[in-house]
Amino acid sequence: MRKRVVVVGGGITGLTAAYYLKKEQSHNIDLTLIEATNRLGGKIDTMRKDGFTIERGPDSFLERKTDAKQLVEDLGLDDELVRNATGQAFILSHDRLHPIPKGSKMGIPLEWKPFLQSSLFTPRGKIAAFNDLVKGRSNEHGDQSVGLFFRRRLGNEVVDRLIHPLISGIYAGDIDYLSLQATFPHFKDVEQNHRSLIKGLRKASQNETKQQKQGQFLTLKSGLQPIVNQLEKEIGEQNILLNSKVTHVEKKNDSYLLRVDHQEEPIEADFVIMTTPHRITEKIFSQYDFMHHFTEAKSTSVANVALAFEKDAIDNLPHGTGFVVSRKERYRITACTWTHKKWPHTTPDGHILVRAYVGKPGDEEVLDKTDEQIESIVLKDLQTIMEINKPPLFKVVSRWYDAMPQYTVGHMDRLIELEGKLSEHLPNIFLAGASYRGVGLPDCMKQAKAVIQQIKQKI
Ligand code: FAD
Repeated sequence: MRKRVVVVGGGITGLTAAYYLKKEQSHNIDLTLIEATNRLGGKIDTMRKDGFTIERGPDSFLERKTDAKQLVEDLGLDDELVRNATGQAFILSHDRLHPIPKGSKMGIPLEWKPFLQSSLFTPRGKIAAFNDLVKGRSNEHGDQSVGLFFRRRLGNEVVDRLIHPLISGIYAGDIDYLSLQATFPHFKDVEQNHRSLIKGLRKASQNETKQQKQGQFLTLKSGLQPIVNQLEKEIGEQNILLNSKVTHVEKKNDSYLLRVDHQEEPIEADFVIMTTPHRITEKIFSQYDFMHHFTEAKSTSVANVALAFEKDAIDNLPHGTGFVVSRKERYRITACTWTHKKWPHTTPDGHILVRAYVGKPGDEEVLDKTDEQIESIVLKDLQTIMEINKPPLFKVVSRWYDAMPQYTVGHMDRLIELEGKLSEHLPNIFLAGASYRGVGLPDCMKQAKAVIQQIKQKI
């Protein structure tokens, strides 16, 4: 008998789930993807303007996490892949750009000389980092915060000035609340296996040196949008409902009824894949108490500004590809990419494209400012380190409210508990997406594929 599968949410998770389901199982399923807005892609939103390619959300994916590259290949788009140009990355601290010490991995110093010569740390901060070499393993058995783990091993300075800004670039959160188990379980394993994080990572990195010379991120020549467009084509217009907000799901015998805003008749399904952010999912299932115990912290709201310039507008543009901002600084920008250098294909010759980021826990109200106010906040911060002598040709401000889920300590335990309750009370309802097992595009795709495997076993 044919089974009805409904995917709720048309971001990358929902699209990937619908695509692989159709590809692998189309003979015995009826598929519907329901998306609240008038467009697919969710956080992926590529814009083209005056010859520039501007990503309003994600700009690339990590090659190392293979699900994204695999999807691009499956979609036949691999000829379009481009790799980021590598270059020096910096930390903005005390009104200066400090090169990230060569050989450091996620801020953990693996080469002595560049670390000792770094202008980013005080001598006391450097000595504190070497404690890692002599300190014993932590006997923390459960989860702990990323901040606690690294502070114990490497001291506060390396954490606040280097590790925090790098990790915030991915999670837009406070590492003193972020779960180590949900984000970097690997570092705990290294510590447990080798006692010293530095020694363990040095050992592992000896085999990686060759790979690291090239960029580790990929996108397509015309941005990430073609992935969304191709997924839409493969899933089929007839299987997609846009402008349809799911408001409520209820169980009816062995199936589910989905209420959609402005539609009288509910949609019936045997399997439902929920890919909406968890805060939305818990409202859709508001009658189930267990849905409300999962998320502890609010997702962080972030914004970014793409600024296009003529080449002569900035005199002393530093070399390299961009910077992140050290913790406890007065700046409101959190990071900045010289996009025309990192991704040359995005920018017409003779121009500069800068992308600056704002919004962090404690400074989310910046999103409520006007575009002009956000632009001037960003320009003021940028002028500390570069001379901008002509206004930008144009700006594109993108606001993402409640966009970055916060995996706080205990996240994985809460997730396992939630999944257990779900299979007990709501079998055949599946959760996938950035709220759960990784925020990066490949993580979202991996979760989508895992759910499809579970459904395949049940059909
Ligand atoms: P979403 O993209 O949020 O999709 C959820 C979808 O559900 C949306 O389309 C929404 O409209 C829809 N929806 C919501 N409510 C309902 C409802 N009631 N009914 C029906 N539909 C509904 N990751 C990387 O790997 N690389 C990067 O460079 C990168 N940069 C980023 C930059 C920014 C500014 C942001 C915000 C994120 C970035 N990320 C990056 C993370 C990554 O983009 C996201 O985690 C990922 O795109 C989330 O995909 P998703 O499908 O889980 O959720």
